[in-house]
This record gives sequence, C-alpha cells and structure tokens, in this order.
Amino acid sequence: MKDIMPNNGQFAMPELPYEALGEVISKETLSFHHGKHLKAYVDNLNKMLPGSGLENLPLGEVVCKAEGGLFNNAGQVLNHAMYFEQFANSPKPMGDRMKALLERDFGSVEAFKKEFEQKGATLFGSGWVWLSAGKDGKLVVTQQKNAENPVTMGLCPLLTFDVWEHAYYLDYQNRRADYLAALWQIVDWQVVESRL
Ligand code: MN
Repeated sequence: MKDIMPNNGQFAMPELPYEALGEVISKETLSFHHGKHLKAYVDNLNKMLPGSGLENLPLGEVVCKAEGGLFNNAGQVLNHAMYFEQFANSPKPMGDRMKALLERDFGSVEAFKKEFEQKGATLFGSGWVWLSAGKDGKLVVTQQKNAENPVTMGLCPLLTFDVWEHAYYLDYQNRRADYLAALWQIVDWQVVESRL
C-alpha cells in the first residue's frame, strides 16, 4: 500500500479538510470522531512507538509488525487516516478504470455496493468493512474486527467504512445500515483510485 502519513519518529494528526459532510456526517460527529477518538489513538501511538523497534517504519509496516496495544493504536490511526481522507463535500465520481474492475469482480457497481453495505451491516461489534486489491489485482470486500486492516493479510486497502458506533451513533443512532447507505454520497473516488 502507499504510505499515507509521514513518520518523523512521531505521527502528526491527519488533517480534516471539511467541518461537516452535508447531511451525511454532522459537524458534531466529526468533532468527536476526529478531535477526540482519532486524537487519542494518535497520542497513544506516539507514546508507545519509541523503543518499540518500529519507530522508523511507514505506518502500514508498523501495523503489520506490531502487537497488542501498539497494533490497536497504529491500526486505528491508519484506518481513520484513510477513512477521513476518502470523503469530500464535492466528491469526484468513479472513473472508468475502477468501474471496469468492480464490474469484472462483482458483476456490477451496484452489486459491489450491496455486498459492501451488507458486510458492514452484519459485522458483529466494532470494526471496519474494506474494499481491497489482492496481489493478483482481484478486488475483494472483507470485514475486519476492531483495529484490523487488510494490509496485514497482504492486501492493498482501497476504501473503508468505519462501523464502530462512535462513527454514526450521534447522527443515526442504531441505524447502521442507513449510515452505510448514505456514505456513498461523499466517497471521493479519485482518492480511492489513487490507492490502487
Ligand atoms: Mn472511528
């Protein structure tokens, strides 16, 4: 996977290039999700990294090699950096290349979205649903628990929806499926395709 955050011995907070995402994610949700939850993961990662032997590695490699609390915090920083980066208020539409890949591997773009939403809705507890590319280029949708990222399985992660309750509860309460269905409106496909 491409390196998403520079490692200067410490990781900086990923910037949030919007305050709210239309009717899809409120300013209040983003202020807690980015300003409190992600901030805590970044602070914990930066506390745990020195002396771990992994302090000079790209974040994706830290996630592949870390264990325990370091893995949990590094994974959550990587996952959230990708999540917040892929959304926009004026998102770029899906390009022909991605459309062709999704049609090849899922039958249609709609079939892909249906599988992605279904796997997000049925993930028990906290975690993430991912679209990734395998080494053979084939696209797959996976459910990952807690802080997991498909990079640990040798996949290249492309798109993710956070299904931890903190991602949607203020706006959607228990209606996780409604949150997942609404997110397509704000996915910037140019960002997603840049991860291929
Ligand atoms: Mn989250």
